[in-house]
Amino acid sequence: MSIKLPYGLKDGVLVHIQDIQERGLACNCICSACGAMLVARKGNKKNHHFAHYKSPECKHAVQTALHLAAKEIIAQEQKFTIPEFSKVTNEEEFFEDIDIYLDLPNKVQLISEKTYDVHNVYLEKKVSDFVPDIILEIGQRKLLVEIAVTHFIDENKYKKIVAEGISVIEIDLSEFKDDFELEMLKDLVVTGVKYKRWIYNPIGDKEWDKWKAEFLLENDEERKLYELERKKIERLNKEYDKKQQKGKESREAFYLKNLKAINTHSINYIDNKTGELIPKVISHVSPCPEKNKYFNGEYYANIDTHCIRCKYFRGYRNERKHIICLANYYRNKDK
Ligand SMILES: [Zn+2]
Repeated sequence: MSIKLPYGLKDGVLVHIQDIQERGLACNCICSACGAMLVARKGNKKNHHFAHYKSPECKHAVQTALHLAAKEIIAQEQKFTIPEFSKVTNEEEFFEDIDIYLDLPNKVQLISEKTYDVHNVYLEKKVSDFVPDIILEIGQRKLLVEIAVTHFIDENKYKKIVAEGISVIEIDLSEFKDDFELEMLKDLVVTGVKYKRWIYNPIGDKEWDKWKAEFLLENDEERKLYELERKKIERLNKEYDKKQQKGKESREAFYLKNLKAINTHSINYIDNKTGELIPKVISHVSPCPEKNKYFNGEYYANIDTHCIRCKYFRGYRNERKHIICLANYYRNKDK
């Protein structure tokens, strides 16, 4: 254990080693976790720290001191800033099937960062089946705060949290475990959001479900069309696999020989409702043997309007940098 204890309790008040003048036992401090007497080690070489007197260093000393410090800071400031709650769509299973077709925003912010007035702060008070590090009362609502130093929330605790339906934020202080000064903690714990993350947020989750439903509704027509296209591709893939004999190259290898690089161009289109000019990036491939569009001496095809409905289209590859286009393959084959 390399973690040195920077805090002790003196007359019930959390004190930092730098604020203690007396060395050794004369510091008159006890461990906030186990209550053992502490000696103040204020040598010249090592970082100043407390050590347990005539007993082994207890496991939870640093963690408990941090909890206590964080609680006191929040109680003093009576404020707490929550980080934004957002979802990254390409990490969501929900979109796995449709994200190759619909134009998804990368990040959806559901709850914005906000500073709340805190009315009460409790330390390590039991909530039904588990003990959160800190409970904040914000108006009528409760927010649980977990201070992570060496232990992070495990699956078991997470399940209990979800069952309870109370929002939980984790503050990751592992980077600062070797020493933490109160002034620094104030930023990290109260107003800062850099080290905070949502473990569970039922309100945010509900907003997310709402967002997804609205998104699907808004894109319903397009989605249905693309679903049909997707099924078509699946069917064609199966047909290909069936025809394929043993020893022949895999479908994937065959497809990778028939990639077309996606290019982009920008256009402005007029919004039907508002009449506004809206810039849009269009993905296209060229040349297109199907002769969809003509520009600068070459035929090209827009992916969303042409390729997706084309019988030669077999989906995207390489993170949408290429499409699989079998046009040339079949054209040459038929000759
Ligand atoms: Zn102790």
